[in-house]
Amino acid sequence: MRDDDKGGGADRIAIRALHKRFGALEVLKGVDLTVARGEVVVVMGPSGSGKTTLIRCMNLLEEPDAGTVTVCGRTVECGGAMRRRERARQVRAIRHRTAMVFQQFNLFPHLTALGNVAEGPLSVRGMPREAARVLGLGLLDRVGLADKADEYPARLSGGQKQRVAIARALAMEPEVVLFDEPTSALDPELHAEVLAVMRELARDGMTMVVVTHEVQFAREAADRVVFMDGGVVLESGPPQEFLNHPVHPRAQAFLRLVA
Ligand code: ADP
Repeated sequence: MRDDDKGGGADRIAIRALHKRFGALEVLKGVDLTVARGEVVVVMGPSGSGKTTLIRCMNLLEEPDAGTVTVCGRTVECGGAMRRRERARQVRAIRHRTAMVFQQFNLFPHLTALGNVAEGPLSVRGMPREAARVLGLGLLDRVGLADKADEYPARLSGGQKQRVAIARALAMEPEVVLFDEPTSALDPELHAEVLAVMRELARDGMTMVVVTHEVQFAREAADRVVFMDGGVVLESGPPQEFLNHPVHPRAQAFLRLVA
């Protein structure tokens, strides 16, 4: 833990009254959500309900219109309530503490697997080349890809690419990892290898927010499932409770489709 995080309390993420619109479309209509240290939160909900937008607001990849985003004790007040320089400082601090794994992997095609993992430590963290190489190899080993260090992304399967992307996220030593539908671009037979790495990460105590429809993963790895619909959180609870006995009719209808 960094010294300056000690004031952050037990919550790694606290979202308050978050609003976001794209033009006339109001996508987030006042979302409140907290994620405790070491907690694994799965976000589910129908397509278009605002899940990706919410997770992208957590590290300010999307600019919320109103509300506050607090990550590891750093707060951004959205909607012009903050001075620009102070806001930029908080956004930078939040980005340093979060890493994101995208649906489409977003690997650098011109770098090997190891190059992709070592790039952040080299260029953002200023780590010496050899140290970044050792860190990168260790992380590739952790995701089961030690033997693919010198391969370029074009020669990796989708599941392998996503595991490299997870190793790359971990290379930044984040406090929180945000996963945006990490398996939905993969053929079904490749889901298991990615989910196994994520389960392992959860077991190691990483704080994770995962947008996914993977019910089995939610059952096994989540501490809490949050159900979104129409830009609000409709229901939230422990996975066994939510998945077996959803209360809201829209959650019931959704689970009949995905479970
Ligand atoms: P989900 O992840 O639940 O499928 P999203 O957060 O991706 O939902 O999208 C919510 C709504 O916002 C959708 O109607 C989508 O088309 C719209 N949307 C998302 N991103 C943008 C954008 N950059 N510009 C305009 N509309 C967007």
